[in-house]
Amino acid sequence: MLLDVKNLHVKYGTVEALHGINLHVDEGEIVTILGANGAGKSTTLMTISGLLKPSEGEIWFDGKPIHTMPAHKVVEEKLTQSPEGRRVFSTLTVQENLNLGAFTAKNHKRVEETRRWIFDLFPRLKERKSQLAGTLSGGEQQMLAIGRALMNNPRILLLDEPSLGLAPILVKAIFETVAEINKSGVTVVLVEQNAKAALKLAHRGYVMEVGRIVLEDDADALLANPSVREAYLGGG
Ligand code: ATP
Repeated sequence: MLLDVKNLHVKYGTVEALHGINLHVDEGEIVTILGANGAGKSTTLMTISGLLKPSEGEIWFDGKPIHTMPAHKVVEEKLTQSPEGRRVFSTLTVQENLNLGAFTAKNHKRVEETRRWIFDLFPRLKERKSQLAGTLSGGEQQMLAIGRALMNNPRILLLDEPSLGLAPILVKAIFETVAEINKSGVTVVLVEQNAKAALKLAHRGYVMEVGRIVLEDDADALLANPSVREAYLGGG
């Protein structure tokens, strides 16, 4: 087991948003977390990556407790989040944004190899490496946010809504790229509104409702589950 989340409780002020989440991710998997708006998916990812602290519970990554670490230490453990909303640094170039993703790197040859890999995954970023990130299209900014996260050479990549706001053709391209990233050995946790595409890509999935996990199964079983179909896959 690469990631083990145990009885996670998270509060915003006095209001509890997560009421005891248990989930695990094995090495090499793509695991998706589904749920309606406000279910707590982003809160879960942000807590795993150390940006929020749990009020109760534990998070273990590769046998180490990470819930007590500050976010920059969690990144050094090779657990990286690509945040929702394409948070790129708009006044920096594509290249400069990517460099920021490698801030923990010590081996410069490895950084160059990783950059080449990211430019192979996203040729568009290579074409536009000197362009200011703020002038990229939405889809390109999303590619850059994922590319920047990959510059850390993560063992596990947390992706929050990578397809948000993208045209259908780009959604397909992003999902194909996530599959390719996973095939190259990166374990992936994927939060997506696009439940059908996420389940087709993932090995397993969890369904969240108002701060709790209500269902956990293989992705195929969730795709065939009548209540999942009704609630998240548009019926049918
Ligand atoms: P979405 O799909 O809309 O992004 P989500 O499943 O990712 O939703 P979260 O963003 O994790 O859900 O929100 C879970 C709950 O926590 C919601 O009730 C939300 O209003 C609340 N919440 C999230 N961020 C904050 C915050 N900064 N302060 C107070 N409450 C918050």
